[in-house]
Amino acid sequence: MKAQCDKCYEISSMIPKKKRLKNKVDKHYFECNHCNHIYVIGYTDDWIRRERNRLDKLNKRNVGSGLYEDKIKEKTKLIESKMNELKEKVEAST
Ligand SMILES: [Zn+2]
Repeated sequence: MKAQCDKCYEISSMIPKKKRLKNKVDKHYFECNHCNHIYVIGYTDDWIRRERNRLDKLNKRNVGSGLYEDKIKEKTKLIESKMNELKEKVEAST
């Protein structure tokens, strides 16, 4: 993904990266390849990664049938709120 960096104003190929923090939390972020400024996308823990996998599977099964529409919406919301919670928790402790 090419984007202009807010820090150095260069057009950078923002490379998605992942860093393991404590408690098996992964930090997902883009890094500017000019000034190394970090843009945080979000954090995931075991629960979120597992539920995201399940969501992927549900999405695949939902294609064509539409049977899992409600379940997908519900799960997406739940995952989003857990990710917000985790973000607040991680950022409060660093
Ligand atoms: Zn930059």
